[in-house]
Amino acid sequence: PTNADGTEIHQLDEDTVARIAAGEVVERPASAVKELVENSLDADASRVDVTVEEGGTELIRVADDGRGMTEADLRAAVRQHTTSKIEDLEDLESGVSTLGFRGEALHTIGSVSRLTIRSRPRDGSETGTELVYEGGDVTSVEPAGCPEGTVVEVEDLFYNTPARRKFLKTTATEFAHVNRVVTRYALANPDVAVSLTHDGREVFATTGQGDLQAAVLAVYGREVASSMIPVEADGDDLPPGPVDSISGLVSHPETNRSSREYLATYVNDRAVTADAIREGIMGAYGTQLGSDRYPFVTLFLEVPGDAVDVNVHPRKREVRFDDDDAVRRQVDAAVESALLEHGLLRSRAPRG
Ligand code: ADP
Ligand code: MG
Repeated sequence: PTNADGTEIHQLDEDTVARIAAGEVVERPASAVKELVENSLDADASRVDVTVEEGGTELIRVADDGRGMTEADLRAAVRQHTTSKIEDLEDLESGVSTLGFRGEALHTIGSVSRLTIRSRPRDGSETGTELVYEGGDVTSVEPAGCPEGTVVEVEDLFYNTPARRKFLKTTATEFAHVNRVVTRYALANPDVAVSLTHDGREVFATTGQGDLQAAVLAVYGREVASSMIPVEADGDDLPPGPVDSISGLVSHPETNRSSREYLATYVNDRAVTADAIREGIMGAYGTQLGSDRYPFVTLFLEVPGDAVDVNVHPRKREVRFDDDDAVRRQVDAAVESALLEHGLLRSRAPRG
């Protein structure tokens, strides 16, 4: 179609823009789960219950006992680029302590689903508010009886973007992605009780009272938990490099799987993947692991803010360091000394 002034170039309407943008934040159910769990943790929740149906394609519910929202908060929260977490670029550059700060998750999730939020703030309010947001519009706001905290429900994800919905994989695959996301946050926050339920079946629940070992037990079960070895290295324990400290748990070499999925690695408490970290871990195990076998690892690296860029794309979990080689050597050394201490690297010569 040609405009009156003879050009075919025209501005897209708001709705179209929002749905295109949504595809970059919310790629699949697991990405919505990630955003909602991050919001609950940012709200200082001590309990986060995640319920999904059909891999999250039919329903995602995230319930928390966090700070909660007033009616005005709710109305603001679903608007575009609204956040309570930063004011300006300066805040961003001096370092954000919250997991979120872009102010786009609720708005974008709500533009490609039927979103219901029930919330009651911790300020002693008698009742809460329920807000319904469908395909980009607030369709109802009503008082609602609910406990302190927030419940977000996402129904029929991508119902209005059929092409995107068609690209969803099987329920099992979508759920595997959800499970991986929730597991990452459960392991990183042993002081928060995190549960995951799929199609009515509880997959795991951490107590929120424990340490990392207790969270690993809840998430991966007794066999894996009993094979875990502590890693604790800082200062002079580490070869030179940007990493200040490395801590966590790694499994006995005999407890391994054929997937990288169980390598849960964190930089400054953010779940990330990084070639340098993975290669350092694998280097430490050396020939103790068969080819294409991976250990269970939950490893936390602390690095100075300027050695790594955490201000990455919302979907990207991959990070790079100024000096990848040094990071690889540091991780290798920390994991190797933990394995050695437990007598697990005696036979470093190739087997056979
Ligand atoms: P961001 O997390 O980047 O700020 P979101 O769209 O995810 O953006 O959320 C917008 C705002 O809504 C947040 O800044 C926060 O103030 C509020 N909010 C969202 N989820 C919760 C929650 N579970 N508990 C309390 N407040 C929340
Ligand atoms: Mg958020």
